[in-house]
Amino acid sequence: MRIILMGPPGVGKGTQANRIVDKFGIIHLSTGDILRAEVGGNTDVGKKAKKFMDAGQLVPDELLLNMMENRLQQKDCKKGYLLDGFPRTITQAEGLELILKKINHSINYVISLTADETELVNRLVLRGKESGRSDDTEEVIKERQQVYWELTSPLLEFYRERNLLFEVNGLGTISEITNRILNVLE
Ligand code: ADP
Repeated sequence: MRIILMGPPGVGKGTQANRIVDKFGIIHLSTGDILRAEVGGNTDVGKKAKKFMDAGQLVPDELLLNMMENRLQQKDCKKGYLLDGFPRTITQAEGLELILKKINHSINYVISLTADETELVNRLVLRGKESGRSDDTEEVIKERQQVYWELTSPLLEFYRERNLLFEVNGLGTISEITNRILNVLE
């Protein structure tokens, strides 16, 4: 099973991603987590990505595509995967299609979690206070939301056209939302 999980920042993608991968025995590929590990390790990729991340902007498409092309060819991806935070632009989605074609994979489902924007900003401000993530300040959160609506939300149409898109209400308890997602996947 290969899944893309989409949704605006703060909608609870990470939480739901963990539950889904456990259930299906697939791996969780969060580009945010991968990039934060690169930044933490002070690698070449990390050095290039840091300034974009701290500003709430997208890391350049080419860097993401190279990184994910390598990652998707590793052995642990054979059992299936959930992509969380990627693709995030039309260019990335088109690039991903080429990569998948090359390695003979296809995506089974694109799940989009939906929620109201003010609710999301409030949640993220709260999370920032708890987690200390450097990009969870109100200003950067608003920037990330804007980037989502401008650059990422056009992907909904892209995947709708390919008959892969399933929209799931992202408001409710964690379990309620998980069940809605499982209803789509099962
Ligand atoms: P959130 O979805 O909560 O904003 P993520 O952990 O998914 O946070 O991503 C954090 C940051 O990492 C993004 O703001 C962006 O700078 C960078 N990033 C992650 N995935 C991508 C991607 N696919 N393309 C470009 N930048 C990305």
